Amino acid sequence: MNHKLSEQEMIEQIDSCTDCGACLDICQTYEATENEAFSPVGRLRAARKVLQGSELSSEEVTGIYNCLKCERCNVVCPLEIDICGIVRRAQHHLVERGIGPLERPNRIMDGIQKLGNAVNGGPSKRWDWLPEEFPKKESDTLLYVGCVGAFSYPEAALSSYLLLKKLGVDFMMLEDEGCCGYLYYYIGRMDLAREHFEKTVERFKQAGIKRIITICAGCYHNFNNWYPELLGERNFEVVHISQLLPNLLKGRKLKKDGREMTYHDPCGLGRLGTGIYDEPREALRLSGVNLVEVEQNRKLGSCCGAMNINNFREISAKVAGSFLDAVKTKAIVTSCSFCLFGLNYGIRKMEKDKKVVYLSEVILDSLK
Ligand code: SF4
Ligand code: SF4
Repeated sequence: MNHKLSEQEMIEQIDSCTDCGACLDICQTYEATENEAFSPVGRLRAARKVLQGSELSSEEVTGIYNCLKCERCNVVCPLEIDICGIVRRAQHHLVERGIGPLERPNRIMDGIQKLGNAVNGGPSKRWDWLPEEFPKKESDTLLYVGCVGAFSYPEAALSSYLLLKKLGVDFMMLEDEGCCGYLYYYIGRMDLAREHFEKTVERFKQAGIKRIITICAGCYHNFNNWYPELLGERNFEVVHISQLLPNLLKGRKLKKDGREMTYHDPCGLGRLGTGIYDEPREALRLSGVNLVEVEQNRKLGSCCGAMNINNFREISAKVAGSFLDAVKTKAIVTSCSFCLFGLNYGIRKMEKDKKVVYLSEVILDSLK
């Protein structure tokens, strides 16, 4: 998808829409609300107004903000309209006009600035999940845990840490890791995003980091795509832990008990990222997991809805719920700590009898 369209080209793309409806069938916020303002087509109409400097109704503004930016619509549009990119640009304009970001993201931004994380965690508790003293080790490879893993889903952080150690990967961690700054870009505060990215890159440079291993698909997408987009370059390699696993697991003795699980494709690794679909599946198969696929997977994989938890909770729960309903197994495995957040929210709110775990937990368990 071309994310570098000029605004004139965006308007031309919007005007080329034939109202075929393909994107309506795939959009999870439209499915959850049945409100056309919260569909790709409704958002394109609102975005056209924004790009031309016209006023929006409050419902249209909400439609721009409650878009998950998941790009599912882009995949099915026969005219290859960059719907998500256009909505994103419209949101950036709204932010510049002082219409948003909304209240809760503003509080999260405060948290990033004051506490160094996006989940309101106490800074001294970041490493509470470690089974030992913080390792004062140097390496040119950094395990970047991320805020959600460190504070909200320590099982994802701990299992990834133990797994990499067990598989003999040389890595360090940064005691003052901080936040990757995903939210700044996501909500359209490009000024804060650029400043934050520059500071983060400088810290990595000072620490001699040449490669980053992430456990969150959001951190991965941010470092891999948005950092170079805003800074013009990236002088470190970014890998998601799932990309390393198939090679590291080959030749290992693994417990193969044939557990049935469904793999959830995080948007940040697949559709928005670099098409990381096979590696986590291969790692799970090597670990003896019997994968049961949902009908819409990989490029069409469902969004977990987590990005809407802040402001649009009901939509978020329904978005996760529609994925959970499509899953035939009780156990779900994902390779994103933030998706754990979204899917667990859906399980709780929609009262689904499902359990979701992080990829490293499953692999580590099979190595025992
Ligand atoms: S990016 Fe996702 S939520 Fe937004 S309009 Fe497209 S399909 Fe719907
Ligand atoms: S899929 Fe593309 S052409 Fe069809 S309604 Fe959606 S934006 Fe328009």
